[in-house]
Amino acid sequence: MTDIEVAKTVALKHITDIAETFGVDKDLIEMYGKYKAKIPLYCIDKTKAQQSNLILVSAISPTPAGEGKTTMSIGLSEGLNRLQKKTTVVLREPSLGPVFGIKGGATGGGYSQVLPMEDINLHFTGDFAAIEKAHNLLAAIIDNNIQSKTNSLKIDPRTISWKRVVDLNDRALRRVIVGLGGTTSGVPRETGFDITAASEIMAILCLAENLTDLKERLGKIFIGYTYDKTPVYAKDLKAQGAMTALLKDAIKPNLVQTIEGNPAIIHGGPFANIAQGTNTVIATLMGMSHSEYTVTEAGFGFDLGAEKFFDIKCISAGLKPKAVVLTTTIRALKYHGGADLKSLTEPNLEALEKGIPNLEKHLENITKFNVAPVIAINQFTSDTVEEIQLIMDFATSRGIKVAIADVWGKGGEGALELAKQVIDVVESDTSNFKPLYEWESTVKDKIATIATEIYGAEYVDYTSKAKAHLRKIANLGLEHLPICIAKTQKSLSDNPKLLGRPKDFIITVREIEIAAGAGFLIPITGDIMRMPGLPAHPASEGIDITEDGEITGLF
Ligand code: ADP
Ligand code: MG
Repeated sequence: MTDIEVAKTVALKHITDIAETFGVDKDLIEMYGKYKAKIPLYCIDKTKAQQSNLILVSAISPTPAGEGKTTMSIGLSEGLNRLQKKTTVVLREPSLGPVFGIKGGATGGGYSQVLPMEDINLHFTGDFAAIEKAHNLLAAIIDNNIQSKTNSLKIDPRTISWKRVVDLNDRALRRVIVGLGGTTSGVPRETGFDITAASEIMAILCLAENLTDLKERLGKIFIGYTYDKTPVYAKDLKAQGAMTALLKDAIKPNLVQTIEGNPAIIHGGPFANIAQGTNTVIATLMGMSHSEYTVTEAGFGFDLGAEKFFDIKCISAGLKPKAVVLTTTIRALKYHGGADLKSLTEPNLEALEKGIPNLEKHLENITKFNVAPVIAINQFTSDTVEEIQLIMDFATSRGIKVAIADVWGKGGEGALELAKQVIDVVESDTSNFKPLYEWESTVKDKIATIATEIYGAEYVDYTSKAKAHLRKIANLGLEHLPICIAKTQKSLSDNPKLLGRPKDFIITVREIEIAAGAGFLIPITGDIMRMPGLPAHPASEGIDITEDGEITGLF
């Protein structure tokens, strides 16, 4: 059965029942139909949240298909609930780019899904649309200010870094000229579109703690310079109030349900390459306020999403995760061991063994944060007994907890062993989270620490452009910000071709972007896609709707 076919076999509970299970009075939630609701921010209880056990689900370096972190997070939460641990899974919202592109939706798969999957994958409660509007409002205000004779900040149009966004894969919009059509139609300048998940406003919403904090961060967005080189921020254009007004509902986390009728919170969806790649702080705190265990995911491999989760989000929000579940697949390890992408469903013990150093490095990295790891082997139907045994033997020989999880095929039942291991780790209280670096270190030290300790690089090289950006950051007084490195997810290095555990490589920082509102610096280490394109045969070709409004073809 396809994901949407499995989803349709489930009789959904009314969202008021889910709210009661979650522990919020049904009269307090704001309903979006029968199966979706927003939870008001006053339902966050920070003292209670401190008591919740936060579990991060991460992964080894992924193949292009994804290794199943979302699916694993959902399945693990079902497993923990089956073991009578009150658990909520907290995830990101899907972007329409991948839904209509190659990867498909982001609501899990098989028997580990969040529902209603067609709603969550298509528009959901309108958060992305609100973010898009807030983003484009600032763009419109900037162009209007350049046009204005009476209200001009004298912004140099050539220095404007703020683009526009749309939540689709639309490569034709990457570079555009706006303001054509004469004096009444604006000042012509080159700009472009990013996908909404890449918007700084997405990153900001995901770190904000309340409306006041959100407004303050929006005001700090850096947009460019005036002709006399004075930096211009959103607050100079008095944009932050109206932008925050547009986000008044988007700031509230969304409540839905899992296949097994447990609560799930889905909120925010920043990219994991150029942003922090994890759901909102508000959603995490909301989940933690009402659950003994809170399971969440950070995008891509541990080197990208998890490092940012720990060093940016956890420090910013004061979170202390208790365990990392490292999602591992036989197919990805074979890929890292040199097997061809097309052959990954064929047994290949030799390639599997050769791929293990990738797993090893991610495990080493987890211990650098002083958090206990649990390896979750995400079971695929093509995995052989011998292949699985090889990974089990590797883990037990190192004294690392490991479990096979068939969450895709069996839902919570397939995650019982994993859930037991996670409970074991949490109850033995071995984790004592510490960040990798101090925010107060110099920018170069912070980047070097991540590159050498986490990626395994020899050293970091800077282009002359990146060096100029280091001076700019110093001039703007932003050296204290944490680092959000933009890097390929395919490799531990900045070269997508170096699989496994690359050694003796250099990380090259080509430029450094400033996300002053979100509050981090983005060293760019390769060609980073902010506006993906569609493939020759996009997933949209298979998506349809019947006369009765039944959607088909989503996955
Ligand atoms: P990630 O969150 O790591 O990107 P997802 O959980 O979204 O990965 O999974 C990626 C895709 O792989 C989804 O379409 C999902 O249904 C599928 N998938 C995940 N685990 C399995 C599995 N064990 N067997 C088959 N398909 C799986
Ligand atoms: Mg995912």
